[in-house]
Amino acid sequence: MNDGTITAPRFYNTLGRSLQSFTPLRDGKVGIYTCGPTVYGDPHIGNLRAFVFEDVLVRAMRYLGYAVTQVMNITDVDDKTIREASAAGLDLDTYTQPYIDSFLADLDTLHVERASEYPRATRHIDEMIAMVEQLVDNGHAYQAEDGSVYFRIASDEDYGRLSGFRLDEAQQGERVASDEYEKEDIRDFVLWKAAKPGEPTWDSPWGPGRPGWHIECSAMSMKYLGESFDIHCGGVDNIFPHHENEIAQSESATGKPFAHTWLHAEHLIVDGEKMSKSLGNQYTLSELVEKGIAPRVLRYFYLSVHYRQKLNYTADAVESAEGALRRIDQMRFRLDHTQEDGPPSPKLAAAGKRLQEEFRAGLADDLNLSEALAALFRYVKVVNVEIEHLKLGEWDVERVRQALADVDQVLGVLDPAQWEEKESASGLADKEIEELIGQRREARAGGDYSEADRIRALLESHGIVLEDTAQGTRWKRG
Ligand code: AMP
Ligand code: ZN
Repeated sequence: MNDGTITAPRFYNTLGRSLQSFTPLRDGKVGIYTCGPTVYGDPHIGNLRAFVFEDVLVRAMRYLGYAVTQVMNITDVDDKTIREASAAGLDLDTYTQPYIDSFLADLDTLHVERASEYPRATRHIDEMIAMVEQLVDNGHAYQAEDGSVYFRIASDEDYGRLSGFRLDEAQQGERVASDEYEKEDIRDFVLWKAAKPGEPTWDSPWGPGRPGWHIECSAMSMKYLGESFDIHCGGVDNIFPHHENEIAQSESATGKPFAHTWLHAEHLIVDGEKMSKSLGNQYTLSELVEKGIAPRVLRYFYLSVHYRQKLNYTADAVESAEGALRRIDQMRFRLDHTQEDGPPSPKLAAAGKRLQEEFRAGLADDLNLSEALAALFRYVKVVNVEIEHLKLGEWDVERVRQALADVDQVLGVLDPAQWEEKESASGLADKEIEELIGQRREARAGGDYSEADRIRALLESHGIVLEDTAQGTRWKRG
């Protein structure tokens, strides 16, 4: 609930590798930059883990009281997009557009709230050139014989402070292995790549060429969030060299600190193994949906494990996510069918207060969703007991609905009515089950017991078990 007060969280900052209490650069406002997709294919469920983590981070910061601006770039020019577009015989824009569309569609399917901006690299070439010029002017970059512009790593004493990369140790062996003699130093990384035949190019002070990958994120983050901003996110694979290089070139260009807090999501793995094309386990969202896994279940699965832990996608994990959602849905169903009346339950009021406190504390503790979800399930337990004891009147039912809606501002997964597909493992959507139960009730009320039995048998054939109680019919998936 956002009543104007702010709860300052603490985060594990990769920069410094410690838990640090968070203070925004500007009172009450937070700027968050999140590395977005490289659009040469549909996102896989690993990429989507990173994007859902960032969505929950943004929602959590809003819940904790901050006004948030989130920017997520779209990398629509880099080695991979160029290679694939050329293999397909298409120009870059034509090739990448369907993947930009499928990325945004996947975000919608998983109820990821839209960022404030999705800047595309190809639409920010001028900003990148301006930054490279600045670096050349102040001696941090140089044009090599091949026409490309490189960042002069020896000019940055701090290099390596994000990832722990040691320049002095890296130097020796790599020099031997490299044949890129045009660079002053093998460790230097490219800012602007000179044109190669068949590649898309833009004009620049160094001749036609295209930007390197790292400069894209520095230029776009600073354009939308300022030279210094609060939080920069990505997956752990981004730490080195991508984010290390972003820091080096941004701070060398401006002389100011770049992002203050760096949050990195661990990787998703499948059945204990790293995803890879060769193992055939690099699933996309639509592939999972085809296998019958509901996006809502996938979102819950993403939330269920702390972002700094590896997330292992397995059949069991999906099943337990389904089970957890079912417990909430069944409570909701009971809630919809309680017809008691009476004074507010003091137990429910206390449980509601505890939920609010514990949920907020979980979020503020380095986005500890497991803690936040545990608080929610303790609350659900109290609600179920109170329903069982016929203690929940209309007023309380409304309180429970509000409490769920409150935490769902962050979780975005609790209300089945907000998810179009509500198809579950039983093959029947919750709504369909409830409709059938309604029809059965009517049949019984009208004395048509054979129709009522037919409906019960139909539900049972889908694994739905009915239980007739004084408060109405309850159901569960058997
Ligand atoms: P890319 O499209 O490769 O630029 O990646 C987009 C985002 O997904 C980046 O933030 C990556 O760090 C992240 N990412 C890539 N693979 C995984 C994975 N297996 N699990 C979680 N995040 C990932
Ligand atoms: Zn990036």
